[in-house]
Amino acid sequence: MRVGFIGLGTMGAAMARRLVDAGHEVAVHNRTREREAPLTAAGARAAAHPAAAARGASIVVVMVSDTPNVEQVVFGSDGVAEGIEDGALLVDMSTIAPEATRGFAERVAARGARWLDAPVSGGSEGAKNGTLSIMVGGEADDLERARPLLEVLGSTITHVGPTGSGQLAKAMNQVVIAGTYAAVAEGIVLGLKAGIDVDAALRALAGGAAGSWGLIHRGPNVVRNDYPLGFRVRLHRKDLGIALDAGRSLGVPLPVAALVEQWETGLIARGHGDEDVSAIARVVREQAGLDDPEA
Ligand code: NAP
Repeated sequence: MRVGFIGLGTMGAAMARRLVDAGHEVAVHNRTREREAPLTAAGARAAAHPAAAARGASIVVVMVSDTPNVEQVVFGSDGVAEGIEDGALLVDMSTIAPEATRGFAERVAARGARWLDAPVSGGSEGAKNGTLSIMVGGEADDLERARPLLEVLGSTITHVGPTGSGQLAKAMNQVVIAGTYAAVAEGIVLGLKAGIDVDAALRALAGGAAGSWGLIHRGPNVVRNDYPLGFRVRLHRKDLGIALDAGRSLGVPLPVAALVEQWETGLIARGHGDEDVSAIARVVREQAGLDDPEA
């Protein structure tokens, strides 16, 4: 399949590489052009701008940071919309706002092309190994067109509903992560302050109803007070912003997500934005007097 791929960051570079290795004919573009080199060395074609990557492609994948960045690469000068073929499919795998997604899809449809929102969960490891969970919004027949490509990238591909539904599902995902990580931090700090054997307690919790991916894989970060990536605090705060906006417009209070978003704002201001999101435990540890907040 002829594919255009725009955005070669942590996620996009690994995903584009999988498509090249699977034998697709991939034209890649990244704002910082040097990042195209490892992909061209693997067999991709470098495109001078997003429009050039889209020209001749039946599917164009976009994987950039946030809503304004998607707008820029799709509708900006030399953007995807200037090069996309009639009837081609744009698959936006970035995590962006559901409402804006619906507007983008309409603007692309006015140019004769189709849109799927297909944000992912599963992190950089999932991108590398092709084990992402992909949450898809859009028409079912468009998903079927994209499926052979998505199956190279993910192991769980779920059609959630019409355009924007994939992004809404991703917002749900990030709200659940906020609550889980906050509770994991509070539980562990309670044990640390009591002076019990927290590693033993974590093994016990993992085997019971409190067992979860966050507890098992990120609990040890909280104990050690060390938060290697993972998923960046600053990206999670961006995603909670999307969820909080959606909650406001739908009339859904999200008090836990709002609190965690505020903690993350403080962490970013203090230079922790590029740590793993489990670093929200820093706030819980400091409030309990375990650590010096100035440290
Ligand atoms: P990243 O490493 O920060 O890469 C961001 C990419 O977007 C880069 O290619 C960057 O280009 C490009 N970009 C940003 N603004 C742009 C603009 N105005 N014009 C053109 N290109 C622009 O981010 P990532 O971790 O790959 O994440 C990409 C998306 O996946 C985000 O929406 C994120 O929330 C989501 N996601 C990430 C993870 C994860 O674990 N990292 C997991 C699930 C979902 P430059 O190279 O020029 O900066």
